[in-house]
Amino acid sequence: MLVPLHEILNEAKKEGYAVGSFNLHCMEMLPSFIEAAEEQHSPISIQISHGTANYIGLDLIKAMVETLAAKSNVKVALHLDHNSDVNFIKKAVQAGFTSVMIDGSDLPLEENIAVTKEVVDFARPYNVSVEAEVGAIGGTEDGVSLKEDVDFTKPNDAAYFYEQTKVDALAISIGSSHGQYRSKSKLNFAVLQEISERVEIPLVLHGGTGVSYDDIQELIHYGIAKINIGTELNVRYIEEGKKTFSESPLENSLRKVLIPCNNRVKNIVKEKIEHFSKAPLYK
Ligand SMILES: [Zn+2]
Repeated sequence: MLVPLHEILNEAKKEGYAVGSFNLHCMEMLPSFIEAAEEQHSPISIQISHGTANYIGLDLIKAMVETLAAKSNVKVALHLDHNSDVNFIKKAVQAGFTSVMIDGSDLPLEENIAVTKEVVDFARPYNVSVEAEVGAIGGTEDGVSLKEDVDFTKPNDAAYFYEQTKVDALAISIGSSHGQYRSKSKLNFAVLQEISERVEIPLVLHGGTGVSYDDIQELIHYGIAKINIGTELNVRYIEEGKKTFSESPLENSLRKVLIPCNNRVKNIVKEKIEHFSKAPLYK
């Protein structure tokens, strides 16, 4: 069933695991994501970049996700990833997304608070969750360089920001990076620990592709309840597609070249969920 993100994140934080939030890069991937979550008996968040939202369209995304979620026995959240365009975010809320991220992290703190509050006030009556970001998470996503400077989240800023905005989830910068798949991040657990002592809501780690499995349990221990995975799915889909497309005769059905790509990302999603959900709830 389709649920607000905060419902599954609050359960995750309480039970001591993290929900994987997986970037949908194209429509073909979607059934694989849901099947992976079902096979792991796990909730899942499907997240949509601004680029993908424009490519597929908010209404079609909502219809697809809702259709699959309605007949599924796992909880599914539909989340609009990084967005700084408040009008676009409002459209996603009205289209039926169950969660949105307002990314005002480029702005001075007070302006970030103001724009986030506007989104919170708009989203509440729809029971739509709001994620925001304090500090700057670097790297490149969807071909767009998100931030020039990486800036670790200051615990004081995070605490003040939460007090003022009452968002449902907070993305923080502790050393992970978008678009990183060739190496692993060095995370600052001291900053995470200090933030988690002062901010009670689920914390979000972006750039999950570049985080080692050894670090995952410690992240969860200190309050990370949502881990975003985008790059790895994109990279492996293309990697698999290069192989199947180059080996396929032209008259072959497209299905036969796409199914192996879908299966590849399904296995990745299953593996991630396995590592994020080493909690008694599931097994
Ligand atoms: Zn991100």
